[in-house]
Amino acid sequence: MTSLFGSSGIRGIVNHEMTIDLARAVGAAIGGQYRRVVIGKDVRTSGDMIACALSSGIMSCGGDVYDAGMIPTPTLAHATKNYDCGLMITASHNPPEYNGIKMWNPDGSSFDDDQMEDIENAVRELKFKRADWRSVGTKYTHEGAVESHIEIISKLVGPITAKVVVDCGCGATSTITPRLLRELGCSVVSINSHPDGFFPGRSPEPTEDQLVRLRDIVLSENADIGIAHDGDGDRVVMIDEKGRFIGGDKLLALLTAMFGEKEVVTTIDSSMVIDELVEGKVVRTRVGDAYVSNMMKRTGIEFGGEPSGTFIFAKNSLCPDGIYAAALLVKIASENRISELIDSLPNYPSFRGSFNFERTRRKEIKRTLVQEIEKVKCDNLLTVDGFRAEFSDGWFLIRLSGTEPKIRITVEARTEEALTRLKTISMEIARRCIS
Ligand code: MG
Repeated sequence: MTSLFGSSGIRGIVNHEMTIDLARAVGAAIGGQYRRVVIGKDVRTSGDMIACALSSGIMSCGGDVYDAGMIPTPTLAHATKNYDCGLMITASHNPPEYNGIKMWNPDGSSFDDDQMEDIENAVRELKFKRADWRSVGTKYTHEGAVESHIEIISKLVGPITAKVVVDCGCGATSTITPRLLRELGCSVVSINSHPDGFFPGRSPEPTEDQLVRLRDIVLSENADIGIAHDGDGDRVVMIDEKGRFIGGDKLLALLTAMFGEKEVVTTIDSSMVIDELVEGKVVRTRVGDAYVSNMMKRTGIEFGGEPSGTFIFAKNSLCPDGIYAAALLVKIASENRISELIDSLPNYPSFRGSFNFERTRRKEIKRTLVQEIEKVKCDNLLTVDGFRAEFSDGWFLIRLSGTEPKIRITVEARTEEALTRLKTISMEIARRCIS
């Protein structure tokens, strides 16, 4: 992967890495290649600032800008089908001081490595095709992105009768998920569903410890299900009617089982349960929804997802759509006790952890990791992204995050004893890398 762009496009702290100069340059590179560009932004305080810089860059090279306003990422990806490309200003689940730019194709897939490299090269060399004054671009408004996304999902999912609690984390889904579920026929209680770039309700990352209020309200309201999104709505996680947090790994298994998927594209860090549930092939990619989406595009496989809570259904879009996935989960909860479905899935103990390091040490840490992995005696080593060491009783993955200065560790094993053993080995490797 190129250095300016990570696995999710460009992302960084506002006015440090994510500057208006960078946004204007990216806009200029885009504007030289794509004539009609739709732009969306999530709720972050820096959204307008970056949108303006991006837009002026695009127009300076002759591209027209269509401003879709504050919308979730999957809503922007859907809107992109009417344009040459779409730009989403978001840092997804990162803290509020971050922002970024993610680029989309008309089919809902995000830019692949080649497309990103084209943009990156133009930005690095400052080689832009500036337009003559007669042909600089114009800015328009794109209306109705939320309404048309609601219409697409409503047609695919149909009416639902369920009691649901929705936690949008004050992110971009505040404008769509509670409304969609109500329009489908659900009784909806919403929390943290006012857009706010300070994310006052909880972190934009919907981890278990951030969803205590959601859990309490699911229980006190006797709801069938609780739903939580990340900041920009490409992800969803769930609270079952017993108040248990159900993360992306379990949801990937649930959706695979419920829809009888024959083939699945997933990432190197997802559970071995998927291999057990799928009759046909499981294709594993690097971590990042862009890799899942692009593999689906290449292979024609119709379902894919990541344990982070991104799910892609090709018949909806090649963009992970947490809003569509939420509607599917609520539909499932309206027809079943969702806790019973969860309990019927194979269940192995697992662990996820991370170690922070200073951004400047990335190369050095990567080198040490290679040396440390060479010493590990495992049955099989997958190197598609980081190192997944597989043993007869489980596996662990150690990799550097594509978006943050972090070593991420994932461990899954058939027994608690094996989990403890593999967790100890992998955490010691990570500690030696950052020491
Ligand atoms: Mg996201």
